[in-house]
Amino acid sequence: MSKTCCPNPAGAGVPAPTSLPCPENGARAKRVGLRTVKALVRHLPFRMPSTQYYFCEAPECDIVYFAADPSAPIFRRADLLVRVEPKEPGEDVPVCYCFGIARREIADELARTGRSSAAERIRSEVKAGRCACEVKNPSGRCCLGRIARAVEQLREASSRG
Ligand SMILES: [Zn+2]
Repeated sequence: MSKTCCPNPAGAGVPAPTSLPCPENGARAKRVGLRTVKALVRHLPFRMPSTQYYFCEAPECDIVYFAADPSAPIFRRADLLVRVEPKEPGEDVPVCYCFGIARREIADELARTGRSSAAERIRSEVKAGRCACEVKNPSGRCCLGRIARAVEQLREASSRG
């Protein structure tokens, strides 16, 4: 039996898990592309390792991006060029980053018309290939799920108040 002299370094060739617990609050964080991290972090540190990053969307947590690799820097809210929607309260925080639709715009339309056209408008842009979620949305993903949630929350808030 011969053994190879150069075993694979730990983790090499093993696909990164699809989610990891956030080191700060343990919330399940999904994978995010390095392209998204690079686009939205204000100043990239020198010698940043090319590794799989994860996006923590827990509202109460300050960490935005982290990696399993302990040498990879962690990025917090203040490190990003944009405010991270699930983490930030406030009406001027964007829900759709590509087309800049903030909570206020959705709330105003709901108050005026009783409905929101945001999802339809975004969907037609997405269909036409005019969105840029990968480099504009901190999650690196399409905002439509978040839009639906925001509409629901704002509708509940307005029916209560
Ligand atoms: Zn977190």
